[in-house]
Order: sequence, then C-alpha cells, then structure tokens
Amino acid sequence: MAIALVTGASRGIGRATALQLAQEGYRVALNYHTHAQAAQEVVEQIQRSGGDAFAVQADIADESQVMQMFARIDKEAQPLVALVNNAGILFTQCRVEALSAQRINQVLTTNVTGTFLCCREAIKRMVPHQRGAIVNVSSAAARLGSPGEYVDYAASKGAVDTLTTGLALEVAAQGIRVNGVRPGFIYTEMHASGGEAGRVDRVKSQLPMRRGGQPEEVAQAIAWLLSDKASYVTGSFIDLAGGK
Ligand code: NDP
Repeated sequence: MAIALVTGASRGIGRATALQLAQEGYRVALNYHTHAQAAQEVVEQIQRSGGDAFAVQADIADESQVMQMFARIDKEAQPLVALVNNAGILFTQCRVEALSAQRINQVLTTNVTGTFLCCREAIKRMVPHQRGAIVNVSSAAARLGSPGEYVDYAASKGAVDTLTTGLALEVAAQGIRVNGVRPGFIYTEMHASGGEAGRVDRVKSQLPMRRGGQPEEVAQAIAWLLSDKASYVTGSFIDLAGGK
C-alpha cells in the first residue's frame, strides 16, 4: 500500500481529505498538532470503513518535529506517494496597523516554513522512485488579500502559491507533480480562530454561488490532483470559492 500524508488532518478540510484518500486506497498518515483524540477518531472512522490509517503528531512549524514525523513514516516501509500540505493557521481579524512581528512570524513559520519543510522531506523520498504528487492548500485569500481580516495570513498563502509554482517546475522532470487548491469560505472551525465562527454565513450572500463550501468539496479536488487522472497537471491551481 502507498502512503499519503495529510497535515492538519484532525478536523476540517484535512479530515475530509484523509477520509477521501483512504476511500481511494491510500494508507493515510494523519498529521495533527494538538488534538490527538480527534485525529484518533478519524483513524478509527477510516478503519471501520475498511481503510488503513495512522496518526502522527508534529508541529509543522518545528523542523525537528517534521523530521521525526517523516522518520516515523519511513518506519512503515511503504512508499510515500502523496503529500497534502493542509495544516494552516490564522489569528483574530484585525487591520495591518495592529499586527505584531510575533504574530506575523508565527503565521509565516507555520503556513510557509512548515509547508516548505514538508515538501522538502517528501521530495527527498519521492525522487528516488520518480513518483509522487503534492497538493498545497492555499486560499482564495492569496488572490483577495483579506483586507481588514488577516493580510498576514493572505500573504502567507501568496507565498504558498509561489512555492507551488517553483517546486512544480523544479521536480517536473523527476516524475513529481505539485499543485495547489485555493479554497474560500468553507465551513470549518478555522473561522473561530479568526474570532468569527459564523463568518461563512455572514459573507455567503456576497458570493456568486450564494453559499459556503463544504470540506468534502475541497477534498474531492485534492484527491483528483493527487490521482493519475491528473497525470498531466502540474504547477496548477484549482479555486474552490463559490465563484469569488
Ligand atoms: P481548521 O482550523 O479547521 O484545522 C486546522 C488543522 O491544522 C487542524 O487539524 C490542526 O491540528 C492543524 N494544525 C494547525 N497548526 C498546525 C501545526 N503547527 N502543525 C500541524 N498541524 C497544525 O482549518 P481548515 O480545515 O479550515 O483549513 C485547512 C487548510 O485550508 C488551511 O491551510 C487553511 O488555511 C485552508 N483554507 C481554509 C479555508 C476555510 O474557509 N476554512 C479557506 C481557505 C483556505 P490540531 O487540531 O491537532 O491542532
């Protein structure tokens, strides 16, 4: 069985992606940061449905923890063929004037450095097999800028998009595909971290499709990009933001 690593899979889009990939026959390595019980429940849900998964704790912002996570996956002696860089954070909505260096650095370290580190470790393992696919979970915020909400977060996702473009070109000749998804306005607990749990319902009437999105709708796009059905797709982005 081939392994797919999904970062931040204890809830939200990562959880939905882990469930989808398990259904498609991957052995899923579910990374989580703080919510061990929630991650374990996803593992058990996958196992009850006849799939295979295990949980692995790591703060992706911490290089040594990322190294330990990949070493743990190596122990399984099954090839890592897919990586979904989904883990991401944001903080309370505010204007740029109110941002501290500490907050900006925390957002960038997790969303950008963490994604880089996981890409680096995955590529090292995929190159010898000339096989692998990575999907980076960016955000519509990279295009929209999130004014008055979290420009720091939006900028981190802009960096993720550039990483996706550059890495895709770097490893294309080695049989590895790197793509991105840019969700927006998805019903998850992330909006509570921004201080507005009901954010999706507040903005949905302004969206062309007049509704928020479900984590499963993002998971479908991620699974397609990882699959052989997308075998000629690299350096590409799928926007999942109801037309915004
Ligand atoms: P949630 O806040 O619901 O879940 C975040 C997940 O990331 C959790 O599993 C959490 O783990 C994990 N995580 C957070 N920090 C770290 C870390 N340092 N190391 C490892 N794991 C970490 O988020 P969503 O599902 O909403 O978002 C997933 C991705 O989608 C993010 O990258 C986000 O930016 C992006 N996105 C979301 C949108 C939305 O509307 N929801 C829109 C656009 C993009 P734990 O719970 O164990 O701490």
